[in-house]
Amino acid sequence: MAKKIPIIELDLIDPHLTRKRKFACIACGITYTLKDYRILFDSHKISYFHFTEKKQNIKYCHDCLESLAVKEKEKLGVKKIILKLYLPDNEIATFNF
Ligand SMILES: [Zn+2]
Repeated sequence: MAKKIPIIELDLIDPHLTRKRKFACIACGITYTLKDYRILFDSHKISYFHFTEKKQNIKYCHDCLESLAVKEKEKLGVKKIILKLYLPDNEIATFNF
C-alpha cells in the first residue's frame, strides 16, 4: 500500500495586509522591516511564508522553502513531500520534492 505523502502548508505573508512589523527567516536569518518588505515584495525580490496553522511566528523566506522541504523529508523519513503554498487571490502553488 502506498504511503500518504506528507504535505507542508504555508501561507504567503502579504506585507500590505499584515500587522507584523518585522520579518525574519528562521532558516537563513534574512530580516526586513515591514517598510522594506513592502518594497521588496512589490518588486518580486522576496516573499515570506509562515505555517498555516499554529507556529505562525515561524517564518521562511522563499529561498529557504526548498531546504525546509528537504529537511522535513529527512525528519519524517519519507521519500516524497509536497509543499503547498497559499498565495493571494486564492491561488495555491504545489511543489513536489
Ligand atoms: Zn531564508
